[in-house]
Amino acid sequence: MALPLDPATREALEGRLRFYRDLGLTEFYRRPVDPELAQQIAALEANFQVATPAAPTPPPPAQRAAVQGPQPPAAKPLSNASPFALTGSALQGLVSPPPSPVPQTQPDAQPGFYEDQPIPPRAPFPIPPKIAAATPPDQRAAALQQIRDEIGDCTRCALHAGRNKLVFGDGDPNARLMFVGEGPGADEDMQGLPFVGKAGQLLNNMIAAMGLTREQVYIANVVKCRPPANRVPEPEEGATCTPFLFRQIDVVRPEVLVALGATAATWLLGARQPLAGLRGRIHNVRGAKLIVTYHPAFLLRDPRQKKEAWADLQIAMRELGLKPPVRG
Ligand code: URA
Repeated sequence: MALPLDPATREALEGRLRFYRDLGLTEFYRRPVDPELAQQIAALEANFQVATPAAPTPPPPAQRAAVQGPQPPAAKPLSNASPFALTGSALQGLVSPPPSPVPQTQPDAQPGFYEDQPIPPRAPFPIPPKIAAATPPDQRAAALQQIRDEIGDCTRCALHAGRNKLVFGDGDPNARLMFVGEGPGADEDMQGLPFVGKAGQLLNNMIAAMGLTREQVYIANVVKCRPPANRVPEPEEGATCTPFLFRQIDVVRPEVLVALGATAATWLLGARQPLAGLRGRIHNVRGAKLIVTYHPAFLLRDPRQKKEAWADLQIAMRELGLKPPVRG
């Protein structure tokens, strides 16, 4: 039975769910793992095994969170204020208020309202491909192009149906710093480039605050095609697309990876955890130091969190030996 929600209530509920999602809270009920999907993912993994005898084997997903090892203490922020919160001119008109609260009215008081709608089973996280052997710096652009060519006019998952342009990735193939977002939005889908909409403008400001330019970093997403209405990528979609992301990471070999939001953190770490528990420390993903922070779209909705995001970026800067630019 479909929920008879009026548009205002639906919008309020969707806003609230987005808010929870950005905090990494996505599971509101238990779902069994679907054995059929598990089999499909195992077949996918087999296709992506890269023979690199010297490379360390990533631990199974269940152990991966534990393997992050003893974590250094969170970096002491260099300054408390977020510099990109202060770049008013670039942000004029971009900041929208936090989500309006969900109305307290019950759409339907009937008990067992949802019980005729089976909850889809959850797919397990696939084991990521082995870390590929290092690509010489002068061959990285070509290696990335080879991955792009392999992806081709992709129809591997359902997202292709709504795609205008596939968004592969952008930036310096030898970048020391790589950002990973969730998936293309409407602007990215039109242009075929990651983070070119409003969230992208804020990301550019964040990068500038670190003393870097967008051309000096590499940017990619968990999925390369826009999910309908910007919803979170489904497990099958993430499982299909992330092997390519992992290969991009292996080619670029960034020293520091920044996961923008819970979806990126979840897929990079292979474990679903609330964002709050992942921030403020350094994880290890594919030989890179991973810092987790808020997604710029979340920061546009809740600008108070920019200070927190700046503290996260300062951890990345410390690891890269970067000093914030002197502001005139
Ligand atoms: N949000 C993302 O996660 N990625 C983009 O490329 C754009 C918006």
